Amino acid sequence: MNSKYDEKDFSACFGDLDRRVYTSRLLGQDKSLILHGGGNTSVKTTQKNAFGEDEEILLVKGSGWDLEKIEPEGFSPVKLAHLKRLATLPALPDPAMVNEMVTHMTRASAPVPSVEAILHAILPFKYVDHTHADALLTVSNSVDGEKRIRAIYGDLVVVIPYVMPGFDLARACAKEFVLQSHPGTIGMVLLNHGIFSFGDTARESYERMIALVGRAEDYLRAQGAWDIQIPSHISPDAACGLELAALRKELSSVAGFPVVMARHTDSKSLAFTNREDLATVAQQGPATPDHVIRTKRVPLVGRDVAEYARRYRAYFEQYEPLARERKSMLDAAPRVVLDPSTGTWSKPN
Ligand SMILES: [Zn+2]
Repeated sequence: MNSKYDEKDFSACFGDLDRRVYTSRLLGQDKSLILHGGGNTSVKTTQKNAFGEDEEILLVKGSGWDLEKIEPEGFSPVKLAHLKRLATLPALPDPAMVNEMVTHMTRASAPVPSVEAILHAILPFKYVDHTHADALLTVSNSVDGEKRIRAIYGDLVVVIPYVMPGFDLARACAKEFVLQSHPGTIGMVLLNHGIFSFGDTARESYERMIALVGRAEDYLRAQGAWDIQIPSHISPDAACGLELAALRKELSSVAGFPVVMARHTDSKSLAFTNREDLATVAQQGPATPDHVIRTKRVPLVGRDVAEYARRYRAYFEQYEPLARERKSMLDAAPRVVLDPSTGTWSKPN
């Protein structure tokens, strides 16, 4: 994994926010680091308030913005002292947390701050970068993930056990960071979730992210878990127009709206759908909640859309009562179809 940082491009950025935008876009350009809409970044800065007083502000990625194309107005300015104080509360329901963040912004038209804003606030560094990097998650989600993470990073990073994103996670990080960090700490791994890097400059924080994720990639290479073997008998050219039309009709009927499907015939996709253990490896759930937004929890293997919909409804009915707030079920149609005979199909966004 290489840094995309370019001194010439960076020198055209003036001020904390422009620099924050520049390296945020670099992170967003790499799909192995950040998927559309995922990850978040921040910078701590000082602004003058209406009384001419200096005020510490956290500029954090706002909801609805994608890092690859983020603009300065995509960052929400939130009063830093208030965010840090919130982290000391023993408990705060997530809707109340969002309300506290929104009511302590200094620009009324700014987007709702990232749900991870308090986490950014409590890290004592000017620039903070957060990704759900593929390589990091691959290691963390493996058997003995924590042991492997500690072997890769030693004491370079603080390690946090899995907590669902929201106030409870921010509070757990605030507590653990104080206990585990030292002057050599350059990152924080959230097991089964992602990784944070931080630094005094935009470049330092970004390049620490690249270096940390690069270590996870090197580890996977050393374990023989990097290169994909592509069987030679797979043909990407098999015609399947009728199959696609039938599948699209059935998916649209279950979804309740017209669905467009795209077929993927690149060698990696074909190799994956032809794995003998496809039905097992493809049904383990997503590596990160980021994926769920686009793919649902699991893809359909084969073409039995009705059975997929039945299982999706049963899954919702089983787990919805366990949620803290009531949830509404989405349509029951899959977003990704893995069919060994015709390949990978997905609903374009
Ligand atoms: Zn995250």
